[in-house]
Amino acid sequence: QFPFGRRLPCDIYWHGVSFHDNDIFSGQVNKFPGMTEMVRKITLSRAVRTMQDLFPLEYNFYPRSWILPEEFPLFVAEVRMMKDSDPSWKPTFIVKPDGGCQGDGIYLIKDPSDIRLTGSIQSRPAVVQEYICKPLLVDKLKFDIRLYVLLKSLEPLEIYIAKDGLSRFCTEPYQEPTLKNLHQVFMHLTNYSLNIHSGNFIHSDNVNTGSKRTFSSILCRLSSRGADVKKLWSDIISLVIKTIIALTPELKVYYQSDIPAGKPGPTCFQILGFDILLMKNLKPMLLEVNANPSMRIEHEQELSPGVFENVPSPVDEEVKVAVIRDTLRLVDPQKKKRKDIQQNIASSKNEVNVRYDYFMCYRCQTLEHVSEANEELLEAGPAGDTPQSPEPELPSLCLKQVFPKYAKQFNYLRLVDRVAALFIRFLGVKGTTKLGPTGFRTFIRNCKLSNSNFSMASVDILYIDITRRWNSMGIDHKESGMCLQAFVEAFFCLAQKKYKSLPLHEQVASLIDFCEYHLAALDEKRLVCGRG
Ligand code: ADP
Repeated sequence: QFPFGRRLPCDIYWHGVSFHDNDIFSGQVNKFPGMTEMVRKITLSRAVRTMQDLFPLEYNFYPRSWILPEEFPLFVAEVRMMKDSDPSWKPTFIVKPDGGCQGDGIYLIKDPSDIRLTGSIQSRPAVVQEYICKPLLVDKLKFDIRLYVLLKSLEPLEIYIAKDGLSRFCTEPYQEPTLKNLHQVFMHLTNYSLNIHSGNFIHSDNVNTGSKRTFSSILCRLSSRGADVKKLWSDIISLVIKTIIALTPELKVYYQSDIPAGKPGPTCFQILGFDILLMKNLKPMLLEVNANPSMRIEHEQELSPGVFENVPSPVDEEVKVAVIRDTLRLVDPQKKKRKDIQQNIASSKNEVNVRYDYFMCYRCQTLEHVSEANEELLEAGPAGDTPQSPEPELPSLCLKQVFPKYAKQFNYLRLVDRVAALFIRFLGVKGTTKLGPTGFRTFIRNCKLSNSNFSMASVDILYIDITRRWNSMGIDHKESGMCLQAFVEAFFCLAQKKYKSLPLHEQVASLIDFCEYHLAALDEKRLVCGRG
């Protein structure tokens, strides 16, 4: 532990909560700048909604959401409209305070008029979301899945998914929401931190029973009932990749601001916790992403009133140890060095034993013997299959690469990433996350977007209108100027203007091509002039 930083450089910095730059100039940090902000309920909902505007079908794994208080009138109007068009629709909504966790401040409502607009909500923004009324039940109980995902690199994008996760169970049998049972948290909310206080909570002494089980034990049950588990996995992988694709544009803006290109700095990786709910029809729905998932492998047990003891939790251990172990394997800075050592020095057992000494890896002493062949399998193996270990005592590998492995199927979704690249190009001053009016004008000019129908005066008005509205939402007052989301809105506006009849994603793709073409031509011209 180095609570005040450390003078000598490290290979890996493992921060407890979030990225904070303690003058780190090299090595790898286990947190991305801006990730905590990006996965807050409101920011995540916004990022997913931008993708839903572009690709509604591909992003239908996230419940319809509204941001409070600013979208309260919209929420009321849309619900009224949907009820008018389908009088049999009897929805339930879930209100979740922004930045909350562990079920804190969450409540269910039947009608928009039940929102507590006074007091807490006004002082605390929130997301209101369609409640998924028909979740898949096991033993008559609602449960959710916590999956661990390693974002190994942002540029190029590299994503790994742990092949096992946790299933966290409610402690009261589930009933569809009615006015009578809306308040029963043990029936509707799957949070471990809430259900642990229920008299019905069962600490699991193995991975298949109790209130917290492994996800693989649920899959076994589903498979024995004849469910298509392979399809379920592929839907989950697709949900994870699409969610990360929604987050990457803004993460890149944070990244270049905290770790400017061309200056010495660390690289980042991060373990994320994905909370997923399975619907009755086995469709996975994203609930939230956690930037700092709990890695505890113990739970508290009350020995006698008021006397607690930490006891090992076999389920947590089974899943989490493997996630940390594989993460360290994948980001291991000694990997390359080791290859050289192996080539140069005749294999000596003692030599190899120092490889993993610098991290105390629980239960994985045998890791020193991991062969290069096995590491290749770790990187290449498709999710779900078990690589062959050359030595029987090796722990199996849990993190499976899904991106770039499946990049071909998902790259067409990465439009906002390309818009973010344009945004970053025109940011100008290093270390900033907002575009000034001059930067926006330069973008318009260099991409040849202004013409007789769209004067530079209209450009300024567009900039002022959109920037003012985004800044009035009070997200980040530290800097003035246009944030990425505002730029994306302006970009969509320009795309709609220029390519009227196409669907939105084609309009945006065409405008990106147009801008990239003109910028490439400009770069070429500058290069030639430079040479001249
Ligand atoms: P927190 O960060 O406070 O845990 P979540 O978004 O994870 O907030 O929600 C808490 C719990 O509420 C979830 O674990 C899940 O059981 C339930 N929940 C959240 N959103 C929905 C939804 N849209 N439909 C059904 N249940 C939900």
